[in-house]
Amino acid sequence: MVFNNVDFDTYFKDYPNKDGFFGKYGGVYVDDKLKAAMKEITEAYFSICQSRKFIAELRRIRTEFQGRPTPITHLERLSNSLGNVQIYAKREDLNHSGAHKLNHCMGEALLAKYMGKKKVIAETGAGQHGVALATAAAYFGLECDIYMGAVDIKKQAPNVARMKILGANVVEVTHGLATLKEAVDAAFEAYSKEYENCIYCIGSVLGPHPFPMMVRDFQSVVGIEAREQFMDMTGHLPDAIVACVGGGSNAAGLFAGFLNDPVDIYGIEPLGRGPKLGDHAASLKFGTEGIMHGFNSIMLKDKNGDPAPVYSVASGLDYPSSGPEHAFLQEIGRVKYDVIDDEETIDAFYKLSRLEGIIPAIESSHAVAYAMKMAKTMGHGSILVNLSGRGDKDMDYVIEHYGIR
Ligand SMILES: *Cc1c(COP(=O)(O)O)cnc(C)c1O
Repeated sequence: MVFNNVDFDTYFKDYPNKDGFFGKYGGVYVDDKLKAAMKEITEAYFSICQSRKFIAELRRIRTEFQGRPTPITHLERLSNSLGNVQIYAKREDLNHSGAHKLNHCMGEALLAKYMGKKKVIAETGAGQHGVALATAAAYFGLECDIYMGAVDIKKQAPNVARMKILGANVVEVTHGLATLKEAVDAAFEAYSKEYENCIYCIGSVLGPHPFPMMVRDFQSVVGIEAREQFMDMTGHLPDAIVACVGGGSNAAGLFAGFLNDPVDIYGIEPLGRGPKLGDHAASLKFGTEGIMHGFNSIMLKDKNGDPAPVYSVASGLDYPSSGPEHAFLQEIGRVKYDVIDDEETIDAFYKLSRLEGIIPAIESSHAVAYAMKMAKTMGHGSILVNLSGRGDKDMDYVIEHYGIR
C-alpha cells in the first residue's frame, strides 16, 4: 500500500534510513563519545538481533517467561453499553509484570548479554520502566543501575521497592528539580563514562538512533500477534486501532502490525486538565519541531525553547515529546493523533472495570476512552484497543483523587 508517497510494502526496510531518520525526524544528536556508543549498539543490533539464534531465544523467552501471546478480549458488555460498534482489547496488561514495557526490556537486555555487557543503565520517572528493566536484568543476571529523581523516589515508593527486591541499584538524583529530566541527564552522564561495560536501555521509542527503531521492532510482537488473533476471531481486520502515546512504544508496536492495511490508526495523547501549556502532555498535537534527548521530533517548548513542563493524570504519558516515527506518521497523515482529557480517562477506567472486570492502567484508559467516544459516532464496525497495562499501580491514586464511582 502506498500512502502519500510512502510505500508501506517496504516500510520497515526503508524507515528509519541508515542514519536513523523517519523523514526529517530522528537522528543521533549526541556528543562524539555517545555517537560511538550508539554506533556500536546499531551494528550489534543489525548483526546479533537478526541472527537465528537471537530470534529463537527471544521467542522462547516471550513464551516461557513473559506469557506470550497475550490474548485479545472482546469487550462485549462495554460495546453493548455504547451501541453497535464492537470493541476488542489486546491484553498487554497480562504480559509478565503487567505492561507492554517488558517486551522491549527483554529484547534490550538480551542484546546486552550477547554483546558481553555486564550492566544495563536507565532512567525512570514513575518507575515503570525501571521495574521492567530490573525484571529483565534479574532474568539475565545483569547488573542494573536505575537513575531516579529524589522527588520521584518519594512519590513512587512501591516501584522503588520492586526495583530493589529485583536487585537493581536505584541511584538517587538530587540536583535541579530532582525529577525525570535530571534523571535522564545523570543516566546519560554515567553511561558515557562506562559504556564499554554496559548499555543504556531507553524506555520507549525515544532517544538517539537506533533506539526508536529497536524499541519499535521489539514491540512489534504486539501488532503482529494482534493482527493474526483478530483475523482468527472475526474473519476480518478491525476498522480502527487505538493506542495511547507517551513516548509511543506500545502504539508503535500495535501500529507495526497494521500500517500496510486499510485500517484507520489513532494515537491518543493526554490532554490532562486542558489545552493550556503546562496542563497537558499532548506534544504531537500542540508541539513544534525541535531536538531533545538526542533526537529530532515534535516537542512542547517553553519560552526559551527548552522542554516545557507537562502534566497528565497518567504518569507514564507525561513526556514533552514523542518518538520520531510518530512525528513522521502524523506528518504524512497515516496515523491520526488526537487527545483525551483526565476526566474522560477516569470515566473509561471505571467503565472497563465495572463492565468487563478489567482494571486498566490510567495510561491505557486514554485509549479505551477514545474507542468509547468513536464507538458512539461510528454506527457500526470494530475497534481494537491496545490495553498497554494493568491498573493495580493506579488504584490508590484514583481512589484518593476521584473517589469510588
Ligand atoms: C509507560 C507506559 C505507557 C506509555 O509509554 P509508551 O512508550 O507511550 O507506550 C503506556 N501504558 C503503560 C501501561 C505504561 O506503563
